[in-house]
Amino acid sequence: MYTAPLKDLRFVLTELVGDATLAEWPDFADYSAELRDSVLEEAAKFAATVLDPLYRVGDIDGAQWTPDGVRMPPGFKEAYRKYVESGWPALRGSAEYGGQGLPSTLVTAVEEMWASANLAFKLCPMLTLGASEAIGLAGTAEQKRLFLAKLVSGEWSGAMNLTESQAGSDLSLIRTRAVRDGDHYRLYGQKIFITYGDQDLTANVIHLVLARIDGAPDGTRGISMFIVPKYLVNDAGSLGARNDVQCLSIEHKLGIHASPTCVMAYGQKDGAVGYLIGEENRGLEYMFIMMNAARLSVGVEGYAVAERAFQQAVAWARSRLQGRPISATAATAGPQPIINHPDVKRMLLLMRSQTEAMRALALYTAFELDTARHHPDQERRRAAQARGDLFIPIVKGWSTETGIEVASIGIQVHGGMGFIEETGAAQALRDVRICTIYEGTTGIQAADLAGRKIARDGGAALTALLADMQAQLEALPADDATLKEIRRAALEGVVALGDAGQALGRLMAAGPEQGLAVSVPFLCLAGIVCGGWLLARSAAAARRLASEGGDQEFLLGKVQSARFYAAQVLPRAEQLRAIVKSGAGSVSEADAALI
Ligand SMILES: Cc1cc2nc3c(=O)[nH]c(=O)nc-3n(C[C@H](O)[C@H](O)[C@H](O)COP(=O)(O)OP(=O)(O)OC[C@H]3O[C@@H](n4cnc5c(N)ncnc54)[C@H](O)[C@@H]3O)c2cc1C
Repeated sequence: MYTAPLKDLRFVLTELVGDATLAEWPDFADYSAELRDSVLEEAAKFAATVLDPLYRVGDIDGAQWTPDGVRMPPGFKEAYRKYVESGWPALRGSAEYGGQGLPSTLVTAVEEMWASANLAFKLCPMLTLGASEAIGLAGTAEQKRLFLAKLVSGEWSGAMNLTESQAGSDLSLIRTRAVRDGDHYRLYGQKIFITYGDQDLTANVIHLVLARIDGAPDGTRGISMFIVPKYLVNDAGSLGARNDVQCLSIEHKLGIHASPTCVMAYGQKDGAVGYLIGEENRGLEYMFIMMNAARLSVGVEGYAVAERAFQQAVAWARSRLQGRPISATAATAGPQPIINHPDVKRMLLLMRSQTEAMRALALYTAFELDTARHHPDQERRRAAQARGDLFIPIVKGWSTETGIEVASIGIQVHGGMGFIEETGAAQALRDVRICTIYEGTTGIQAADLAGRKIARDGGAALTALLADMQAQLEALPADDATLKEIRRAALEGVVALGDAGQALGRLMAAGPEQGLAVSVPFLCLAGIVCGGWLLARSAAAARRLASEGGDQEFLLGKVQSARFYAAQVLPRAEQLRAIVKSGAGSVSEADAALI
């Protein structure tokens, strides 16, 4: 049973992100605390009453391939219909095409609830959004007229077709061919691992396909992006003939069983009709522009599943009786709820504090991306873009790696029953395991962070972040011992990150193969320290609100969680700093043949 963490979402948005600022910008003049709260509350209800009940059935029954197309598990069609009727797909979409144009900051909070309640379901709207953003970004007026409104409303779904069996992380190897045929193209090739490449939720599926036009240059500079609808669309917008695109099979996989992962064949007969988006050979460039939103969304998945795992673990730990109290002064001698054992408390605090840290960083990042797009001041937009760009690989890489850690601890809290499918604790771990892989593996995120986001600007964005973190932490009240201790640990983390950042810069200058040998430890270090900075701010805000008579249970829980993070998570930064500073030799000088 999942309950949306509405108190924490509101707390992060108001106290850490300062979402009230959004209403000061012309694009979000209608934004208000009332609007935010009503969206969050309605989403929480939808997540709990419509999506969560399908969590288990989706895992057990899974999506099924049939010769007539993919069939979704029982209940999914009805849930999707309700999702569309309630207007949820349109939250972020442009107003011109029926969308509500809400800030990414708020939509990110809503996406967390979808991903916690039912990660497999959440992927369909996420990919549809990606497809509509691509068409909105570079499509012609006619393409927008034909496809955008139906994607924004959710009447049709979208799928992103990048991967081929020989082209995963390395998209320069894409072989799908596109041949010009009058005003359109014919596509031939096979794509694998295509999420929601087919389903029976919507009347049409709009595929965005990366392919190489005959005669295009080799490598990444020769890739173009095409719209390939499952059913061709007539001028008036009605469905026409079936296009030459087929789902050949779906994968049997570790988790997210309800999300169909499709092998798609294009052009088995006379070629799949495709429409070029934007200019020839610029497909990857367009994909990169949309990547921030997609990577943020997958980062959110990491802590959304962690939140679900935490809720389940804490409920279990309160009801499972085992062992005697250690304390001599304990009132009862009999078996006690395991939550009272120091090590179980430790595990639950590790789950909760890391989840809160990841949520804070993701919502902060979403706000930076909103600022980069919508702030009236150009200089502020530029700085926010640099900060958002820096954070994206950290949110994607760190939150998904940590999501796996948290889901795994969730199993440990359950003991043997955690290993038994019936309790559902294992599903969280199986589901979240994909998040470090799709939308760019952790290795790819770390390379992006070290190369594009740090080495390329000579460390300027990182230096600006370190200065901001330090100034904000130093300005925090430190009049009680707990806050003082949290602040001290967070500041030490900032020093460790600065130090490791310089070491990474030197390694990258010596050659990327040097820096990339320690880039994942650096990424994890950055995530931990950013989380420590935001949790220190969160503890100070919670203390203040508690002293003003706010919700004591929630606010003191926030301080407790930040204190634990400072004591038991932030020290990992020291270890990671030592790894980064130890240099690349142990990796770069290792002989691959001897591994
Ligand atoms: C369930 C699921 C859903 C998916 N959905 C979609 C989808 O909707 N659309 C789509 O197009 N694709 C999708 N994918 C594909 C996914 O994006 C790729 O699996 C992913 O990009 C990794 O590619 P790969 O599997 O070929 O692994 P590889 O690229 O072979 O990577 C294997 C390992 O090598 C490492 N590696 C590779 N290159 C580098 C490098 N340059 N630097 C450092 N490390 C490197 C990786 O980090 C990884 O650890 C999906 C995959 C799955 C499993």
